[in-house]
Amino acid sequence: MSEDVFKKIVSHCKEYGFVFQSSEIYDGLSAVYDYGQMGVELKNNIKKYWWDSMVLLHENVVGIDSAIFMHPTIWKASGHVDAFNDPLIDNKDSKKRYRADVLIEEYMAKIDEKINKEVEKAAKRFGESFDEAMFRQTNPRILENAKKRDEVHARFVKAQNDNDLEELRQIIIDCEIVDPISGTRNWTEVRQFNLMFSTEMGSTADGAMKVYLRPETAQGIFVNFLNVQKTGRMKIPFGIAQIGKAFRNEIVARQFIFRMREFEQMEMQFFVRPGEEMEWFAKWKETRMKWHKALGFGDHKYRFHDHDKLAHYANAATDVEFEMPFGFKEVEGIHSRKDFDLSSHETYSGKKMQYFDPELNKSYVPYVIETSIGVDRMFLSVVSASYYEDELDGGESRAVLKLPPALAPIKLAVLPLIKKDGLPEKAREIIDNLKFDFKCQYDEKDSIGKRYRRQDAIGTPYCVTVDHQSLEDNTVTIRYRDTMEQERVAIDKLADIIADKVSMKNLLKTIG
Ligand code: ATP
Repeated sequence: MSEDVFKKIVSHCKEYGFVFQSSEIYDGLSAVYDYGQMGVELKNNIKKYWWDSMVLLHENVVGIDSAIFMHPTIWKASGHVDAFNDPLIDNKDSKKRYRADVLIEEYMAKIDEKINKEVEKAAKRFGESFDEAMFRQTNPRILENAKKRDEVHARFVKAQNDNDLEELRQIIIDCEIVDPISGTRNWTEVRQFNLMFSTEMGSTADGAMKVYLRPETAQGIFVNFLNVQKTGRMKIPFGIAQIGKAFRNEIVARQFIFRMREFEQMEMQFFVRPGEEMEWFAKWKETRMKWHKALGFGDHKYRFHDHDKLAHYANAATDVEFEMPFGFKEVEGIHSRKDFDLSSHETYSGKKMQYFDPELNKSYVPYVIETSIGVDRMFLSVVSASYYEDELDGGESRAVLKLPPALAPIKLAVLPLIKKDGLPEKAREIIDNLKFDFKCQYDEKDSIGKRYRRQDAIGTPYCVTVDHQSLEDNTVTIRYRDTMEQERVAIDKLADIIADKVSMKNLLKTIG
């Protein structure tokens, strides 16, 4: 997929009511988006899939819904006030701002791409007899590029670990990285920029308090750890799940809903005995990957990316990456955070954050495995993987969203062939019977072909057409979105046919 396809996906999202630019009539607000009538349904279905997979399928995972505003000391304890920074750099000619780390990562990705192209070319040339490993080890151009990449990589990791901003800039200079807009290398210094939004709570007369809009939902879970453990009589290991808004003043907000300033997260903190965290880390990696793959987009679209740079408190971290139209990108993070957060809250609040383990007969601060996924990035991955432009017979084409039926905003459309002779009434009758189980849409405008196209574009898995025969024998034509095949079925069979494919329960059963 290319950037071109990505542009089409973005305009498709707007045209069919999935995603709108925020404040559009005022020329928009950068990196803030609104979900439209279709988008909100798809988003809610994604959230339900995640929520149910956590709290229904795991007896020992419960949910909460904590407030966006929290006591400001929480963000001191979590490290966000001091260290939730991105290194930024400006180009003096274009006046554009970039993340220094991202510029370097993109540079390394380009070298990797060059190497892979070289390998692909050789594979074609040599055919069956091609020995890829040998080629990678011996081809001089590849060796030279790999060496260059490894050198930059080593410097980059060290600069990040040492928090050495000058060295980050030097890497950009040494690699001759140019601004994609101005094409020049006229860079400023690299500076740290804190990503948290702040505001004031209370009237200024009483001395207002500076509060932050939470940059992640996780801290709401940590500070409620004991509340939930005690009131829910939870025994370790157990997890707390939460879905909610998060806010980050991202320096470079590009790529549509991939990087937003207001977004939504689905996070789960799983509390375990110290020493058992690696087992649980492996288990949650597997569980989460299964959740992604069950959507059926193809296993090759996912990969793990283990972190080079571990936060000082983490002893393992990986990203689940998905192949977006603009390459493999992080959709979810899975981290082993040891007792960092709970211990830090103990220190800052002066309250014990410990669990008494009856089996071990001792108290300890539990270790934590975190799974953290962005709803909006998940939404983007689902829409990107579902978008197809199919060539049809007769030179026509259709834009179709082959969404997993359980996630589709509308499950079935009911279409009277014509607007009279009692067909609309019959169609309404079908909807009245099915509307309690499935989100249905009624459409009588335009030709049946046009109506099918409209439903294809929003990903409706079933179209049901009511014609004159329906009045006589209570049958309808059901048309399947992906194959476009049609068959005649009895109206009283519709509920079963549709439920079989669209039910969240059946999707959950594949992972539960
Ligand atoms: P990135 O490196 O892309 O900035 P991150 O590593 O800072 O992401 P985390 O802090 O691990 O992200 O957040 C967990 C998840 O929240 C991410 O995997 C992503 O899906 C989502 N997320 C983070 N920042 C944004 C954002 N600005 N817009 C949309 N989703 C986001």
